[in-house]
Amino acid sequence: MFKADYHMHSTVSDGQLSPSAVVDRAYRNGVYCMALTDHDDLGGWDEAQQATQNLGMRLITGVEVSTTWHGKTIHILGYGFRPMDPTFHERLSIMRATRIERAEKIAQKLHDLGIPDTLAGAQAIAKRKDPISRTHFARYLVMMGYCKNFAQAMNQYLADGRPGSVDHSWIDVSTAVQWINSAGGYAFIAHPARYKMPHAQLRLEDLVEDFVSAGGRGIEVVYNHLGPQETERIADIARRYHLVASRGSDFHTEDEGADIGAIPPLPNKLIAIEQLLGISQ
Ligand code: AMP
Ligand code: MN
Ligand code: MN
Ligand code: MN
Repeated sequence: MFKADYHMHSTVSDGQLSPSAVVDRAYRNGVYCMALTDHDDLGGWDEAQQATQNLGMRLITGVEVSTTWHGKTIHILGYGFRPMDPTFHERLSIMRATRIERAEKIAQKLHDLGIPDTLAGAQAIAKRKDPISRTHFARYLVMMGYCKNFAQAMNQYLADGRPGSVDHSWIDVSTAVQWINSAGGYAFIAHPARYKMPHAQLRLEDLVEDFVSAGGRGIEVVYNHLGPQETERIADIARRYHLVASRGSDFHTEDEGADIGAIPPLPNKLIAIEQLLGISQ
């Protein structure tokens, strides 16, 4: 069976394996075609490319861009862009630079909740000063015994709207789509069923319409923890808006969700990402 996975993270963003270790794991799991989709960062490309080449695997350029839509965080995946596009690198690097200030604010909020020194803790976990993700804070809260597991740290403190999260203005959805398109790639909406709508008048379809008008091409239809009914709802949206369908595990580490390649196949009557990218199966 053709096994592919188009959504995973390395230590370049908030994953816990190096890019080459991510590739090794994909290979061991029988994945032949993959994209490394670190948050707002293309820094894993060279290492992943070398590793996939050595193993005879297919690597697609990938990234997961943080955006804001009506005040809510939306993740936009980019695929198939030019890996060395200098403008895209520069744009993402400027955007990443806003993370440190946000991390300081998160640490201040946690401090006010009685949890000290979380910035230094998150930095120690990330093994760098910057960029820092909420994931690093969550792992620190678990390590220090403030939370019993990663999901609880997110749900209690760090997920959107929780007391340790801060409102942050990332770039607009349309800007992310433009950046990806101008680097020669295709934009996809990541994990669409996960978003809480900003208010009762907005539906997922409104996000999809804004995304399509900006030049977005696809949507992640199959991913971790999505039940059959939700999958069918997203597949229906993909068909109605003529969006290309992708699938991915969103792998970060062994104990925080699905493993690489551990994803069901796409539902029927969809245009698969392989068709868009010219990948033969
Ligand atoms: P950040 O990019 O700093 O906003 O961190 C967001 C990351 O936290 C996501 O990419 C996920 O890896 C992880 N995460 C896990 N659960 C949640 C959740 N409920 N809400 C937001 N982020 C989550
Ligand atoms: Mn993440
Ligand atoms: Mn995401
Ligand atoms: Mn992701």
